[in-house]
Amino acid sequence: MNCRECSEFILRYLEGELPPDEQASFERHMGHCPPCLRYLEQYKLTVRAGKVACAEATALAASVPEELIQAILDSRKPR
Ligand SMILES: [Zn+2]
Repeated sequence: MNCRECSEFILRYLEGELPPDEQASFERHMGHCPPCLRYLEQYKLTVRAGKVACAEATALAASVPEELIQAILDSRKPR
């Protein structure tokens, strides 16, 4: 596996969708290619940050009272 192939496999690797033999060669490449390993770490952080931001947005939306949403919608109505 080369660096370009690695970058194509990275998402599926993180999703756990790689077949065992491809996962093995992916991990072997990571073991001796520091730039790809750094890229993988960076990618993991980005994915995690994205998930956290998404969870916070969902929690925020869930905590807004119905009355407030209605008031905002009402205030946007043309008079
Ligand atoms: Zn590489």
